[in-house]
Amino acid sequence: MQEVDLFVIGGGSGGVRAARVAAQHGARVALAEAYRVGGTCVIRGCVPKKLMVLGSRFAQACDDAAGFGWALPQPPAFSWPELMRRVHAEVTRLEGVYTANLRRAGASLHAERALLLDAHTVQLAASGERFRARHILIATGAAPLMAPDIPGGELAASSNELFDWPQQPRRVVVQGAGYIALEFACLLNRLGSEVTVVLRGEQVLRGFDDEVRAHLQAQLAGQGIRFISGAALAAIERRGDGLSARLDNGAAIAADAVLRALGRKPNTAGLGLEASGVALDANGAVMVDINGQSSQPHIHAVGDVTDRVQLTPAAIREGQAYADAVFGARHTTRLSHLGALAIVPSAVFTTPEVGSVGLSEAQALAAHADIDIYSTNFRAMKAAFAGSEERTLMKLVVHRGSGRVLGGHLVGAEAGELIQLVGVALTLGATKADLDATLAVHPTAAEELVTMRVPTRRHGLT
Ligand code: NDP
Repeated sequence: MQEVDLFVIGGGSGGVRAARVAAQHGARVALAEAYRVGGTCVIRGCVPKKLMVLGSRFAQACDDAAGFGWALPQPPAFSWPELMRRVHAEVTRLEGVYTANLRRAGASLHAERALLLDAHTVQLAASGERFRARHILIATGAAPLMAPDIPGGELAASSNELFDWPQQPRRVVVQGAGYIALEFACLLNRLGSEVTVVLRGEQVLRGFDDEVRAHLQAQLAGQGIRFISGAALAAIERRGDGLSARLDNGAAIAADAVLRALGRKPNTAGLGLEASGVALDANGAVMVDINGQSSQPHIHAVGDVTDRVQLTPAAIREGQAYADAVFGARHTTRLSHLGALAIVPSAVFTTPEVGSVGLSEAQALAAHADIDIYSTNFRAMKAAFAGSEERTLMKLVVHRGSGRVLGGHLVGAEAGELIQLVGVALTLGATKADLDATLAVHPTAAEELVTMRVPTRRHGLT
């Protein structure tokens, strides 16, 4: 039996960061990854998805080009197999970088599934090799939730399988209206698929600011995505070469592919966690304190498996903080994305993108009576010039009493890039007066963020 200071189960964003940093702090580290190093983000999530999103935007760019004096062959030709070949090549390159970095740091890498035999013993499932570990980190991530099960549910794809579609489906039904559903609905629509989104609620992106939700849905509908709200998939059947998606309202939609994106479930089944004294919540997530410590003091968990903030930068930060605290005796990283005052910038890579940080208008009003809203809705320069209908929304949620900006919400080109900087401002505790004092950059869309002078709405004025 090998002795290690740290055994990491899961080679995604959080696990790799923790393993690498712990090894750099001098710990003897082993990491097991059953699939491919890089995890959801690199292998079948953020990275390949963003490349596909970027690829999908060239259709519009080709259309817009004429407005800028370019003559392109019409119609421009797109090859799904060629895009996906390149996307997969990039994923493989990044996987190599992750693996090399781990090895360079001195961690040993085991390409198989691992499970806990007891609170200190980890066994590799295929080789049977055993490790006695002083510390164990669970970083197994989460997997697409394909529930509730429906007749023919096996005919649907999750985001995992989509990356392996050999051809672009002509007609796609997407169930769900969260991050994954909308990002894929949008990119497939832009690449020319006919897309229907089936959502159980009335509006997309629950949890986001209501104005953002309405604005985005209107923009996507304007681009030709069909939304069927207040409905759910009831069954999927084969029909000739294609599929028929039957809804609970009786409607049937002909499709070549059905994508379900209904949230993600922590990967904890069959790991031997509960038998080792690690408490799981009702959803199967490892229950941890703010430092990632589970009910077993030497077993921690980071990232999606804890079902707190299911975002890559959160997992990376948690992995770094864990390794620094436990093996570097340093508390270097503030876990500012956790807790009541969390400031979590995030982006939804639809086109136009959504960028959001801090409180929505409704959340701010639940906490304070005196809220001012500054918002603007306009056609950005490029859209106006090229004759596109795309409209940009920018919104600030401000606490009148303190002047603090509590939230920033954007829908528009590069909103994902812009919201990073709004996140900096909020993290620094920016007030509306600070934004007003900031000189604008002209001509940009972002200058609106520092030039909105008059509130659009004032709540709590007596
Ligand atoms: P989300 O939680 O974002 O969305 C889930 C969607 O599924 C919602 O529209 C929800 O509807 C719907 N839903 C859930 N259960 C049911 C059900 N039983 N019947 C019908 N509809 C249902 O999950 P995703 O799978 O899209 O993404 C998972 C997580 O991954 C995200 O929350 C995010 O943290 C992360 N992610 C981040 C990305 C980014 O940063 N750009 C990109 C992709 C993923 P309702 O609103 O009614 O609850």
